[in-house]
Amino acid sequence: MNAAGSPAIDLRDGDALIIVDVQNDFLPGGALAVKNGDEVVPALNTYIDLFLTKGLPIIATRDWHPADHSSFQARGGPWPPHCIADSRGAQFAAGLRLPQDATVISKAVTPDKDAYSGFQGTELEAVLRSYGVRRAFIGGLATDYCVLNTVTDALENRYQVYVLRDAIRPVNVHPDDGSKAEQEMVTKGSTMITIEDLA
Ligand SMILES: [Zn+2]
Repeated sequence: MNAAGSPAIDLRDGDALIIVDVQNDFLPGGALAVKNGDEVVPALNTYIDLFLTKGLPIIATRDWHPADHSSFQARGGPWPPHCIADSRGAQFAAGLRLPQDATVISKAVTPDKDAYSGFQGTELEAVLRSYGVRRAFIGGLATDYCVLNTVTDALENRYQVYVLRDAIRPVNVHPDDGSKAEQEMVTKGSTMITIEDLA
């Protein structure tokens, strides 16, 4: 609710929820755990319920790597092995109430290409176009990598972008990476919102 007591943003046709990489390996205990990453799950469930109620599309991206992926340290990449296709670590968080008809977008599925953005080498743009999406509401993991890059590409593809500030968490390789990423997303043209702005 805003100061006037009504939601600031009315959800309508042309809106879509994009949930970025809420997978076991990015949660506490996972191979590439994001601190407090599990806190995005209940927050996103609230957004999911809202978009479901309004009959609006819900899309979930996932890292879906081969076992010899170039982003893994064994191949000179920056990360430990994570989100290997069909592994438990690559599954969506058990508590995430993703509806059966949600669209799942797998990314970085070949050994030699990485993709921080859900748009990179995927059908995401075509899916959004098929739904007639104009405004993208984006949350998930992690703020400073896949959320940042997905938001950036959505803006470049001329979507109006709302970042779900209560449903993102950073890796913070450097302690202020998350806050820098949030600033960057705003500078590039997105709007930071929380669930109170919608419901
Ligand atoms: Zn990855």
